[in-house]
Amino acid sequence: MDEQQAAQGRLTAARLSAEEVVGVALSWVDNAGIARVKGVPVRRLAEAAQHGVGMSPVFDVFLVDDSVTTSRWLGGPGGDLRLFPDLDRAVPLAAQPGWAWAPADRYRQDGTPHPACQRRFARRMVDRAEARGLSFQAAYEVEWVVQRPDGSDPTDGPAYGLHRLTDLSDYLRDVLQALEAEHLDVLQIHPEYATGQFEVSVAAEDPVGAADSTVLVRETVRGVSARHDLRASFAPSVQPGSVGNGAHLHLSAWRDGVNLMAAGGGRHGLGKEGEAFLGGILAELPALLALGAPSVASYLRLVPSQWAGAYQCWGLENREAGLRLIAGRSANAEIKCFDGAANPYLAIGGVIAAGLAGIDAGAALPEEVLGDPAHLADPPPRLPQSLGESLAAFEASDVLREALGDILHEAIRAVRQAEIDLFAGRTPEDVTAATRWRY
Ligand code: GLU
Ligand code: MG
Repeated sequence: MDEQQAAQGRLTAARLSAEEVVGVALSWVDNAGIARVKGVPVRRLAEAAQHGVGMSPVFDVFLVDDSVTTSRWLGGPGGDLRLFPDLDRAVPLAAQPGWAWAPADRYRQDGTPHPACQRRFARRMVDRAEARGLSFQAAYEVEWVVQRPDGSDPTDGPAYGLHRLTDLSDYLRDVLQALEAEHLDVLQIHPEYATGQFEVSVAAEDPVGAADSTVLVRETVRGVSARHDLRASFAPSVQPGSVGNGAHLHLSAWRDGVNLMAAGGGRHGLGKEGEAFLGGILAELPALLALGAPSVASYLRLVPSQWAGAYQCWGLENREAGLRLIAGRSANAEIKCFDGAANPYLAIGGVIAAGLAGIDAGAALPEEVLGDPAHLADPPPRLPQSLGESLAAFEASDVLREALGDILHEAIRAVRQAEIDLFAGRTPEDVTAATRWRY
């Protein structure tokens, strides 16, 4: 990396020091969906920006329980990579005083990009689309459940109840304040359906930015929760048999300043190219679940009639469709079936790749589904009902294999298979207990 990086590093370090930052957390999200970190003192930030920070490539095959598998190209104790912070995103963490955070990209020792870097994969897909004149606006919704450390519920207020906001008003104020202090553009915050469940949404931005923001939102919520003696769970399943935590991805595609989801000519104002883009995503949805619903626990959440989007169908404003179309002024598609175990970079990169393949194929959307598919005489297909089913679709997806590249594709495949093996024969209660506090 060049001298310019070091100069920007010095400026960023000075800016952060002026805000009383002592350490900078450089984070990346692994294939199991866990955000991992290396911290540096702020005075070493310029050096980190210029030369990177060492880390092992073995994290590419870590599992949710910190056990380690191997894959064809990655795994084992050898080798080293360099983590480079994205200084443009460096920001003091409002709920972790003295700390700042920056998302990191991973490079090899020789300065070439690490082929399994998930954040660079997302960037590659954005660049690929841009070369075709397409850009995106994206955002992840963040759902989480709070509990006291002893497992009790800090509020018994009803779903979406003002009661819950009243019970936890100091906590929710501090969440809002912290997010805003980090320059996140919060749209809404509200109690969700499940006991102790909340949701926050932030404004749409470019896809890599949206993935960065969701990491920042979650760690901020976690930090504020700890300050209120609460624990936050972003896991797909917090209570077996109950509504889980989704991480719905909102996405619109743009060409020449025109939103293809509202370019007109098709159903609900969809443009032809927008329909093909969504058709590609819908077709690949079973395979995409290996990225967007990547845990064995994901399939405890992804069941009908819980607004998780368990069917391979689309529909205007249909909360039971895997792909929900939101029409109008800020038209976008919401991928409902994704959850809080997803690596947000992999999920968004995979979705863009699928959409581009749809455009190439001139894909069309099938008949739309309105109402709860579970109550239809002739329902659309269910999405995969286990990680094994998603993995089979992922292995068969030429689109995702080509987009991810063999090295990353194979590492993801190995992690999914190892987690299937890890939880084989375990009850839903066991799976939930083992994953509830990991994401
Ligand atoms: N918690 C639901 C899920 O698992 C989503 C509820 C909603 O529509 O916001 O995705
Ligand atoms: Mg929600």
